[in-house]
Amino acid sequence: MRLLLVEDDAMIGSAVASGLRQEAYSVDWARDGQAALLALDAAPYDLVMLDLGLPRKSGMEVLQQLRAAGHAMPVLIVTARDAVAERIRGLDAGADDYLVKPFDLDELAARIRALLRRAAGRAQPLIEIGALCIDPAQHEVRLEGREVKLSAREFALLMALAEHPGQPLSRAQLEDRVYGWEQEVESNAIEVHIHALRRKLGAHWVKNVRGVGYMVPRTA
Ligand code: CA
Repeated sequence: MRLLLVEDDAMIGSAVASGLRQEAYSVDWARDGQAALLALDAAPYDLVMLDLGLPRKSGMEVLQQLRAAGHAMPVLIVTARDAVAERIRGLDAGADDYLVKPFDLDELAARIRALLRRAAGRAQPLIEIGALCIDPAQHEVRLEGREVKLSAREFALLMALAEHPGQPLSRAQLEDRVYGWEQEVESNAIEVHIHALRRKLGAHWVKNVRGVGYMVPRTA
């Protein structure tokens, strides 16, 4: 899952970015409103975390422009404690949830999981496909009840595929979802991780769709 963090405060931004990377998200950090809009044009994001007080373009303008441009991903706004009117305006302008500064990183991570779950059309916290069960909160994968140990990258790839079973994603789409701006992606990195996933789960769980990419089947 690839997230866009829009935050001009260096301390908050680096704490949030590193906290979310530990949760196996790929995080790009834009430090002003203009940079956020450029980023949104350049890459697909699963969620935007948007501070409202920003230089060069306010968070509210970013929110309005991204919705006007047709972006449908969840947006979590971040506001000051006393800014009730701003929060209401943000929710009415297309934001999905809000957090008040200062916030707890664990609460942020839980809200992000909830928003991503809803965006994927799921109400259940676990992703269950036949005998495969993924717990996004604990980063646990079980197959027929037995835990399967995955690296952070393998887990991120499996999440990207399992959120939409039956829909193949190309290598480029997977790279976009699993890697951020600053990460060098070796040309065969996705194949290497896919290979590891197939070895650990069984090849039928990560199907190679010839000429298209990879997918997790709806049932296996
Ligand atoms: Ca700010």
